[in-house]
Amino acid sequence: MSCLAVGVVVHQSLRPALPCYRPLSSSLPRLIGTKMRSASTTATNRGSTPRTRSLGRETDGVAAGDDLSKGIAEFYDESSPAWEGVWGEHMHHGFYPLQPQPSSSSSGIDHRSAQIRMIEESLRFASLPEDPSQGPKNIVDVGCGIGGSSRYLSRKYGARCRGITLSPLQAQRANALAASQGLADKASFLVANALEQPFPDDEFDLVWSMESGEHMPDKEKFVKELARVAAPGGTIIIVTWCHRDLLPGEDSLQPWETQILNKICKSFYLPAWCSTADYVKLLQSISMEDIKTADWSDNVAPFWPAVIRSALTWKGLTSVFSSGMKTLKGALVMPLMIQGYKKGVIKFAIITCRKPKPQ
Ligand code: SAH
Repeated sequence: MSCLAVGVVVHQSLRPALPCYRPLSSSLPRLIGTKMRSASTTATNRGSTPRTRSLGRETDGVAAGDDLSKGIAEFYDESSPAWEGVWGEHMHHGFYPLQPQPSSSSSGIDHRSAQIRMIEESLRFASLPEDPSQGPKNIVDVGCGIGGSSRYLSRKYGARCRGITLSPLQAQRANALAASQGLADKASFLVANALEQPFPDDEFDLVWSMESGEHMPDKEKFVKELARVAAPGGTIIIVTWCHRDLLPGEDSLQPWETQILNKICKSFYLPAWCSTADYVKLLQSISMEDIKTADWSDNVAPFWPAVIRSALTWKGLTSVFSSGMKTLKGALVMPLMIQGYKKGVIKFAIITCRKPKPQ
């Protein structure tokens, strides 16, 4: 953990993953009433199977398939040590209360606690039991980074946790951290593709994807794999970056919105974005139950400014420059993330559901 020049308890400079844009929404039949739901709304409608195309096929500047996977792996191999050095083991946004405490100025925010709060708020949103002894005991962490969530969940629930990532360096580091934290028998990590998971059907009572969905070039396959490995009655939690839901009558984003997203994409190895409503349709099409979504964009607003501040410290700058070009390119587009959120085209979404038990 390091402190920024401005006194913020902080992380590093580059965040691993931004999607490249091409709206999935335009290729899916509009589902009446599937605009972004509030935190308390449960979608139980079953839509017809949406006609999805493989996202990422036509993205601007980002190759799909093996090239994309290779790019993502290299990006994380390169940038993860720098991120860990400045921000620590969690490679995801923090969750910040909308009404900050009177005493908390931007320099007084503990961003690492906000990242833990993100995990806790996600569990709460998905209605997992408050009592850890009643919680999940077999968890998969899809797109695990260096395993921060896995180790946290493993400790909280006494659960077995398997993490997968495309980055060999991340998997290795995640295993080393598990061993050094006395969790080697509980949390383990391997290199594997989320779209072809090396796990049997019906395996996990919690399927966790914290900010990895935006990397997936085929959202339909992604969602189907999450559902396949979930145990009947198991919970699926997807926390991810989306573009805004399309309005009635729209079949694409506005050109200026696409431009922002494409600029972001070009600096990362990212496929197409989709909307929260698209995820809902996909989950409905495979008969998931208790589908719930929320827009947490306002709750994550302090995150990117903090990441940029940390990048501008001596430690941040040396980390970025010594990591390599991919890291530097990522750092340079970070202000566009703030712009995207402010203009409402980027949404930070949580989507949860349950796999039905057989009748
Ligand atoms: N969930 C972690 C890391 C988020 S960064 C955390 O919150 O700390 C995104 C992660 O998704 C990286 O580990 C990256 O390797 C992984 N990822 C992206 N595409 C993937 C894919 N197709 N299969 C497996 N992992 C993937």
